[in-house]
Amino acid sequence: MYPMTEPIYPLLKTVRHRIGIDGAGITTLIAGAGCPLSCRWCINKKLLSEASPQPVTAQQLYEMVRIDDLYFQATGGGVTFGGGEPLLYADFIRHFKQIIPPVWKLNVETSLTVPAENLQTVSDMIDCFIVDCKDMNPEIYHNYTGGNSSLLKENLQHLAQAVGLEKVLIRIPLIPEYNTPEDQQKSIQALQKLGFTRFDVFNYITH
Ligand code: SF4
Repeated sequence: MYPMTEPIYPLLKTVRHRIGIDGAGITTLIAGAGCPLSCRWCINKKLLSEASPQPVTAQQLYEMVRIDDLYFQATGGGVTFGGGEPLLYADFIRHFKQIIPPVWKLNVETSLTVPAENLQTVSDMIDCFIVDCKDMNPEIYHNYTGGNSSLLKENLQHLAQAVGLEKVLIRIPLIPEYNTPEDQQKSIQALQKLGFTRFDVFNYITH
């Protein structure tokens, strides 16, 4: 019998004291390496390709971020896993949740372009899913990300059925050279049909 290996997270950096950006209260962003997509205007690309990740265990990460415990508790905040694509490391996030104080909020910024079982591993323990959906039109999605939107759609359906809709915020960007305000509206309508109600409609700035 082999010993069970502890899940590891490829940490790029933590960013402390974020307010109103990625979840309730004061949050610490935990950015990790690795993403299945290749978005043209990815602001993380340089970081993802050049920085060397630091492999950390859940306990080690907890020791790094607990310095802000009082801020989290006083403001109803917590930590937000971003990236890259944090749901590539769903087992790690589940493990981390078992270590942190229950009062901390646990959020993820995700493209949902991960196997369904990854999402299902954490869907009962995340306080806020911040979903960067790009565009719900499969062709626009593919042109912009290089990926296939079928996983996104499957995972959105899971979220709509298994998670409280108030826990899901969907970001819908206007992407220069790729979509139009009309496309954004079509994405909103497609998402409303699935039951979603919380949207962040905004413009990518590319210069
Ligand atoms: S999903 Fe996010 S991290 Fe991944 S390539 Fe697109 S913008 Fe970059």
